[in-house]
Amino acid sequence: MLTPPKRSNLSQVVEPRRLVNQGVTLTGNIDRKLCVRFADAVIEISEPIEAELIFDVADQGRKVVHIIASTTVLIACQRCLEPITLPLAIDTVLGIVWSEDEAKSLPKDLDPWVVEEEAGDIAALVEDEFLLALPFVTYHPEDQCSVVLSPEPIMDESLSEDEGADNPFSILEQLKKQ
Ligand SMILES: [Zn+2]
Repeated sequence: MLTPPKRSNLSQVVEPRRLVNQGVTLTGNIDRKLCVRFADAVIEISEPIEAELIFDVADQGRKVVHIIASTTVLIACQRCLEPITLPLAIDTVLGIVWSEDEAKSLPKDLDPWVVEEEAGDIAALVEDEFLLALPFVTYHPEDQCSVVLSPEPIMDESLSEDEGADNPFSILEQLKKQ
């Protein structure tokens, strides 16, 4: 069986202006060691971060980068705290701008990539997009979670406790009757 060619890591820092002018597409892996914030947000980035960055000129001469990237992370289930294997994929287009002021001039549906120097950090760029792509809460499917859900909603238990004998008002009622 043939093994696929190993994808090499992309360089962390690129020159977006030059890449746009040349219409370059970068294909390779983002070094996981460079994505500290992303790694901290999950248990582990368990698969290579495969990325394709297409630098292009869009409508009205606007410079854009189209980011297509995927990886897999292990993230804690918020019910049982055991890991979940979660594939992540991003496919987004950002407008490349050179200042926060210029970012404000972009159409509302185009998020900016602000590159203040000649060089831009594509590892940080892809990392930011993955952080945005992380779900707000993560749970195993119910039949795969190691916490067995009780058939009764928890709310009902606390309600019936309030109405039980420990309730100070019901104790008061009992005292009055005596
Ligand atoms: Zn779980």
